[in-house]
Amino acid sequence: MPKPGVAPPESLVQTACPLDCPDACTLDVTVRGGRVTKIDGSKDNHITDGYICAKVRTFHERVYGDDRLLYPAIRRGAKGSGQFKRATWDDALDLVVSKMQEARASAPETILPLCYGGSNGMLTQDFADAILFRRLGASRLLRTVCAAPTGAANMGLYGKMASTSYEDYPQAKLIVVWGVNPGVSGIHIMPFLKEARDNGAYVVVIDPRSTTVARQADLHLAVRPGTDLPVALAIHRYLFEEGHADEAFLAEHARGAASLRERAKEWTFARAAEVSGVAADQIRQLAGRYVKAAPALVKCGWGLERNRNGGSAAAAVLALPAVAGKFGVRGGGFSMSNSASWNIERPWITEPEPPTRAMNMNKVGRFLTEPEGLPVNLLFVYNCNPVAILPDQRRVIKGLEREDLFTVVFDQVLTDTAMYADVVLPATTFLEHYDTARGYGPITLQLGKPVIDAVGESRPNHDVFMDLARRLDLAVDGDPADELEGMLAVLSGLPTKIGDDLREWWKAAPPNGGRPIQFVDVFPKTPDQKIDLFPEALNKQAPKGLYGFQPDPGTAEFPLALITPASDRTISSTLGELPRPAVTLEMNPEDAAARNIDDGAPIRVWNALGEVLVKAHLTPLLRPGTVAMPKGVWRRHTANGFTSNALAPDTLADLGGGACFNDARVQVARRGK
Ligand code: SF4
Repeated sequence: MPKPGVAPPESLVQTACPLDCPDACTLDVTVRGGRVTKIDGSKDNHITDGYICAKVRTFHERVYGDDRLLYPAIRRGAKGSGQFKRATWDDALDLVVSKMQEARASAPETILPLCYGGSNGMLTQDFADAILFRRLGASRLLRTVCAAPTGAANMGLYGKMASTSYEDYPQAKLIVVWGVNPGVSGIHIMPFLKEARDNGAYVVVIDPRSTTVARQADLHLAVRPGTDLPVALAIHRYLFEEGHADEAFLAEHARGAASLRERAKEWTFARAAEVSGVAADQIRQLAGRYVKAAPALVKCGWGLERNRNGGSAAAAVLALPAVAGKFGVRGGGFSMSNSASWNIERPWITEPEPPTRAMNMNKVGRFLTEPEGLPVNLLFVYNCNPVAILPDQRRVIKGLEREDLFTVVFDQVLTDTAMYADVVLPATTFLEHYDTARGYGPITLQLGKPVIDAVGESRPNHDVFMDLARRLDLAVDGDPADELEGMLAVLSGLPTKIGDDLREWWKAAPPNGGRPIQFVDVFPKTPDQKIDLFPEALNKQAPKGLYGFQPDPGTAEFPLALITPASDRTISSTLGELPRPAVTLEMNPEDAAARNIDDGAPIRVWNALGEVLVKAHLTPLLRPGTVAMPKGVWRRHTANGFTSNALAPDTLADLGGGACFNDARVQVARRGK
């Protein structure tokens, strides 16, 4: 024990960030007296390079915050009241087990595990939880709230070929940053973009908002939400019709080019401009520059997928380097999520996925309130705050209020969803347990180490799920018994043998030291290793066929497009509990003036699904006709306890069953003071 008045010694512990962010930073965490006092980026990782986002820099405010769950608890008040009685782990788990046995005896598919986005660590998700829910025969969750349309497009066209890494951006002479804001998400792209610009690269940004990166760009196309597809198709039309398509490359490496050409035919620059709301000259300029530049890189984000045309838009964007012949050079091709390019085995899951029903998470509110077939009677929520992240928030809440629904929430803090739980179980944060941190921007894998003891009575995910499996008599010999066996199982699933340092793995495993050149080091993983520019499965899935455009869902009553971009407040919805300024609605002064709304005025934003009460923030950085609120915020940050999710429809994108947050159309009016 340190002497009174003498500061306890300080230590610096290295770990890694497993949160749902592409970068997977290496962290230097300062610990004093068993408590985290500072979190910073490590210089040991050339991507992190000594800095991290402001969100994780303050992560210890979550670890020790007022909302931290310290012990298990059982509901004693009305659902939503947040009144709980402290329980022992044994009592809480006994209750969960009895409800699981009851549900299992009636129909195991009445159990729905619900998880997404809280952590990408391999011990925290799809580990013991997968073992438990498979053996139970629970319903399966389709994790489609993010990245499903872009994932479907990449899978269909390229079989999920690994993409160009951040480090190769500086080689590019032209970079199109399409539907992503690296100023707040995947921030470690920024220095590489700057280096590219310093080397003379021409940077184009396509985004309805004039973000920091858009303001620094040479060309900014502020498209209407949901119209990226016509812009991409107009470029394809230009490539094909003006003799700029790389026919030799297409003949050797692709199929389906004729069908893509046919679908692009109607999209002249003028027509794409009319639909997308940007000048035809801007699209022409982009197309002309793209043809001439080498290497030319397209960074495909997630902003373009969150609408009715999102899958086709992503497919058309990803098809650009194929048609224009931009592969085969360092700094060329496309850059996007590498999350499924890894081929990691999961040997700890010994049985096949059961043929139980698959439930699209964007429809959870509907499944809970208007079941077709078997109802969901037991909802097990972990790594996720569905009230804050799913569309049609009012319906989700209505479902959680069902008295006959038994809800377990296993989380680090008392989330908006936990308020409706029957049993709350406290989980450790990544600073309190072992795990992996896997980048899906840079191709990296690191070991996450506990830097402090578990806070309160919190326990790691794998520990609790294996405990439940044992209590349900579902454990078998060979299951990973503890954290060490868990980590060994994870390591045995990696495609390449590793040395002593896990961080060295990525240098050896992915081709070219984690910096693959597309069509030199990596090729499409389709059966014939060719790009399929018109996959029949995708064509069948899309309501208007692949590359078929669906018009704007706006009406005279609800004309404004509401977008919900990533912000500097949360990662998914993680950290949304922390005190932050109240949420505002960003709107263009032109739209505000038409409604007699001043900057800072209290306003009402509504549509047929719900209403949100916030204040207006007038900014010319958003195109007229489009308004914006940040995604992932919690109910406490608006005046009436509803967020933008209350205005988002639970309709699905054309591909992959993705969410359509950016198809929310709303009206805005001033409120009385
Ligand atoms: S959230 Fe992203 S940028 Fe922030 S520390 Fe984690 S990996 Fe790094």
